[in-house]
Amino acid sequence: MFDAVVIEKEGSGQQSVAVRAMTDDMLPEGDVTVRVEWSTLNYKDALALTGRGAIVRQFPMVPGVDFAGCVEQSSCASFAVGDRVLLNGWGVGERHWGGLAEKARVKSEWLTPVPAGMTTRQTMELGTAGYTAMLCVEALRERGVTPESGPVVVTGATGGVGSLAVMLLAGRGYHVVAVTGRAEESDWLKTLGAAEILPRASLSQPGRPLEKARWAGAVDVAGGQVLANICASMVYGGVVTACGLASSMEFPATVAPFILRGVSLIGIDSVMCPQERREKMWTLLAQEISFEKIMVTEISLDEAVSAAADLLDGKISGRVLVRLQR
Ligand code: NDP
Repeated sequence: MFDAVVIEKEGSGQQSVAVRAMTDDMLPEGDVTVRVEWSTLNYKDALALTGRGAIVRQFPMVPGVDFAGCVEQSSCASFAVGDRVLLNGWGVGERHWGGLAEKARVKSEWLTPVPAGMTTRQTMELGTAGYTAMLCVEALRERGVTPESGPVVVTGATGGVGSLAVMLLAGRGYHVVAVTGRAEESDWLKTLGAAEILPRASLSQPGRPLEKARWAGAVDVAGGQVLANICASMVYGGVVTACGLASSMEFPATVAPFILRGVSLIGIDSVMCPQERREKMWTLLAQEISFEKIMVTEISLDEAVSAAADLLDGKISGRVLVRLQR
């Protein structure tokens, strides 16, 4: 028997969430069974657990878009019993049972070996948030944004993606402007490497099609008006990476920044990102992250639902790590 968080849909359309005792024969199909050691709560998991977003595509569902642990059973050539593996994305926790369980059975092609020098716990201190932050940071570098190009702005700076993007960019020598709705976390953001703190409210109201040119690069987790205002404030040739919708799914912008300043808007998707690029991101994370600076809240499976509400209500800074083994 093992424990898992299970989301079910009632006849009324309401969802229920509970920690349930499961048996191996209940696990979905897959060629690798993993003894999960650590999972995390990402924004998407919080939406799934609270039912505040339509994340789960079929019920019953074990949520959790990422996890790390040890291979317990394998019928594929690429992973052997005892291998340390991690998984993020591929629809796990949405269409296929995910990581908020003591065991997971998945397709071997979704698994990534834990990078050398990292523990399974460390991989989930980063989780999908860290890997997405690195996708954004690398997208900026690949498009020629260097520390000499000018400041880089990061929104949702106290959240998972944002805080790790601040740390990664500062580590590479960029002048980082951290946008946050939580001024009280300014000191922590500075220890991560933020050079300037900007109140979220300064970007939340409708602005002009073109604002004063301020930033050479951007990592945006907010979407909505915040993203529109960021695009309007980029320097000529600036690059914006858009990965989130913490503010809104909308994009109330004009084309002015794109056709008058040559600004690029780059979409970042972590879920279906090809395996080769994932492994590259995880290797870079192993080299560049200062784990002692990450703010981690560790919880048990039983605490996942209340922590999910706290995450969406802006009561948690940094990362939420879920402990699966006692
Ligand atoms: P977190 O909840 O950890 O962080 C989100 C942060 O956004 C908050 O901490 C807050 O930071 C900020 N925020 C909250 N509400 C608003 C608002 N109304 N306007 C502007 N900013 C706001 O989430 P994650 O870091 O895990 O994820 C961030 C976003 O990125 C989510 O939308 C998520 O779905 C998306 N995402 C996308 C991925 C992809 O593949 N494209 C992968 C991973 C995440 P502060 O208080 O500092 O302002």
